[in-house]
Amino acid sequence: MVAVMSRIKTEEQADAYKTALAQYDRATQHLKDVSEDIIEYMRYPRREFAVNFPVRRDNGMVEVFTGYRVHHNTVLGPSKGGIRYSPHVTLDEVRALAMWMTWKCALVNLPYGGAKGGVVVNPQELSQGELERLTRRYASELIPLINPQMDIPAPDMGTNSQVMAWIMDTYSMTMGYSVPAVVTGKPIPIGGSEGRTEATGRGVIICMMEALKQHGEVDADKISVAIQGFGNVGSNAARYAQEMGFKVVAVSDITGGIYNPNGLDIPAVIEHARATGSVQNFPEAENITNSELLTVECDVLIPAAMENQITAANAHEVRARYVIEGANGPTTPEADDILNDHGVFLVPDVLANAGGVIVSYFEWVQDLQSFFWDQDEVYRQLRRIMVKAYDFTLATAEKYKLDMRTAAQVGAIERVAAAIKMRGFYP
Ligand code: NAD
Repeated sequence: MVAVMSRIKTEEQADAYKTALAQYDRATQHLKDVSEDIIEYMRYPRREFAVNFPVRRDNGMVEVFTGYRVHHNTVLGPSKGGIRYSPHVTLDEVRALAMWMTWKCALVNLPYGGAKGGVVVNPQELSQGELERLTRRYASELIPLINPQMDIPAPDMGTNSQVMAWIMDTYSMTMGYSVPAVVTGKPIPIGGSEGRTEATGRGVIICMMEALKQHGEVDADKISVAIQGFGNVGSNAARYAQEMGFKVVAVSDITGGIYNPNGLDIPAVIEHARATGSVQNFPEAENITNSELLTVECDVLIPAAMENQITAANAHEVRARYVIEGANGPTTPEADDILNDHGVFLVPDVLANAGGVIVSYFEWVQDLQSFFWDQDEVYRQLRRIMVKAYDFTLATAEKYKLDMRTAAQVGAIERVAAAIKMRGFYP
């Protein structure tokens, strides 16, 4: 632990990791009963893996790519967390995301620790064959670190069920038999779960509905919603929000956004984005920029793209009364304070986007038992766990007189700390 600590402290830390550590320090101030050595220990990743590997491009040239996998804390069970393909991936970003996974799994009471992985690549610039070769080589480099009892990857930004299928196949070919439980978010025919693709977006809307209900706002058609990011999380949140009767007035992707105060037809926007590669220029909507999306007139804002979107520079312009975090780390600690001062009710990432890891857990359980559930069962159990975690966070907020972000972290960190205390420090 000491060697890892000193190395991390001397490195320049990227924004997401600074945010994760600032949140941690803020939360642990309230944990008077947890010993200082446990608080210090939980601040650092357990192990970090970096790899540089060659991939042959279609033109015959070989290019070297960099990938990471970080296991943050594994006291509650095998580590769990997605794999991100993005040109902006850094080791610090992966550390931050791994730490958030530890708190997320503990908060929703799953028997998992936290992990995250990433490859520095723009997947859009690769052919399907190049993407497969890159994925298989990265997966084979990860073999000493992943398995159903140790660390179980899943999709994140820039990866999907096809990428998970290639990882599962690469691992299985190395073992000599099929190991579906080594990753989650796989296609259903090879051991995926019903409901996994839409689970995160659905969970975000379940949290939004709990927050609105708590404040006595029960008429869905009176509530307008704006969503940043229209990938897996954003588009599924938009679709489910509309199904539940809410008015989705604005959505965006990396190319920009669209706005219609009377509400967008979400299945039509999904079809338009599929056909044109962008949500922009959708008929019956006005084009807006990504920064305008964050400050558009609406009741609920759902950031569902990436980290550090709501910052000290724009938080005072947010007009929403609720922020429900679909993305991981979209709000900086300074922005948290500004939103709090303005009376905005925020449901934090580790709670709001936990639907993905919850159904990933169901998928892993189903794979280990070779016994599969139907979609109704998945949705019922997802809702049960989300609502329980929401109530637990709210009760922690009331007990310690905290905002929901700090309460979620306090509740989660307390659980991890209790497990460390019970297990003791090895040797
Ligand atoms: P995705 O790759 O499917 O979609 C990302 C979306 O964000 C795309 O529409 C993209 O165009 C848009 N985007 C990217 N950069 C942007 C920018 N600078 N401004 C505006 N839009 C931008 O990814 P995803 O799986 O939907 O993940 C989105 C977020 O949700 C990430 O923070 C991820 O860590 C988090 N998350 C995902 C899951 C999951 O199950 N997929 C679970 C929990 C949390």
